[in-house]
Parts: sequence; structure tokens; C-alpha cells
Amino acid sequence: MNLVLMGLPGAGKGTQAEKIVDTFGIPHISTGDMFRGAIKDGTPLGREAKAYMDRGELVPDEVTIGIVKERLAKDDCKQGFLLDGFPRTVAQAEALDDILAKSGRKLDHVIYIEVAQETLLKRLTGRRICRDCGATYHVLFNPPKQEGVCDRCGGSLYQRDDDSEETVQTRLEVNLKQQEPLLNFYKQKGYLRTVNGEQDIQQVFGDITTILRGQTP
Ligand SMILES: [Zn+2]
Repeated sequence: MNLVLMGLPGAGKGTQAEKIVDTFGIPHISTGDMFRGAIKDGTPLGREAKAYMDRGELVPDEVTIGIVKERLAKDDCKQGFLLDGFPRTVAQAEALDDILAKSGRKLDHVIYIEVAQETLLKRLTGRRICRDCGATYHVLFNPPKQEGVCDRCGGSLYQRDDDSEETVQTRLEVNLKQQEPLLNFYKQKGYLRTVNGEQDIQQVFGDITTILRGQTP
């Protein structure tokens, strides 16, 4: 089962990736892990990627694609894989199709966990941190007993700049803009399976399982 997992920050991709991997026994291939692996193995492409990263530059597409190609050629991908964080662009998606075609494979599904922007905004701006002891809370998922006050030490809670509505909104918009052409590409190819990510974790996973087992929802 050859899969790509897509979703905006806060959509619950990490949680669902973990469940898919546990249930279906395929490796989870995130871009970060892939780069770290290639650098650790000291492959020529890994060394090249590291040189760009050390200079604080973006790793060019041909290097990234080369690393993906090496990773997908490994034995653990024979029964399938779950790609996460790659592809990010239509050019990368075309390169991925090409890599798979050359090894007699193709994608089965691109799972897109869809969550409304307002919901993402609530999820991503809810974190609060204690000024005194550093304990973290979330106004929706793990609220303190008294608003703005730390349960542990009574200190006052604050919101990091990274979690402010303005910063999160900008981040979401950048991601949304990047994601749109890719979703259209996969829709046209007939790979796109959209899952309602507003449901609770088990329901989202239930829908994904239904798709992966080839049942009609
Ligand atoms: Zn505290």
C-alpha cells in the first residue's frame, strides 16, 4: 500500500500517521527522518543535503528527490510506505510518480485530512505556558482549572508569540497556498481521498481504515 498523507498544520497528521503505521505495518517516511537518515548514513546525497542545510539554504529539489528515491528503494518499502511531508509541490509529485513507475509501482491513495481553517486556528492558538514553572496547557484539550492560572504552582499563564493568532494565520495561509495545486493534481489523477478531520481521533482513523481496506464508506 503506497500512501501519501496530507493535511495542514494542526489537522492531526502525526497522530493518524502513527495509527496507520501500527495497523498496516508500513514504514512512516517523514521528510525530516529521511534527511536525518541520509545524513547519518553519509550517502553522497545526504552529504550534499547537509551542506545546504549547514549554510541555512533550502535543499534543492533534485537532492530531495534523490533522497526520496533512495529511501523508497529500501527493503522495508516493498510492502508499501506512508509518505508525510513529501511531495510539497506538483513538480515533486510528478517526480514521485516517475520514481514509482520506474520500479513498477504506483500510489494507491493520497489521504487528505481536511479541517476548516477556523478549527485549525483554535487548535493551534490554544497553548498556554506557565511563566513560573513552564507547565503547558491547552484551552481546549488540557485547560487549567482556573483560566489563566497554573494548576501546579498558581503562576500566570501566557501565550507564546509563535502561537498568536496572527502568526498562526500567516502560517496556515502559506501552507494552504502551497497545498492547493497539489490537491488538484492528485484529484485529477484520481488518488485523492478526503477525510473529515473535524471528527474525533478514532472516527478519523475509522474513515481512513475504510479507505485503506477498499470498502466503500
Ligand atoms: Zn506553574
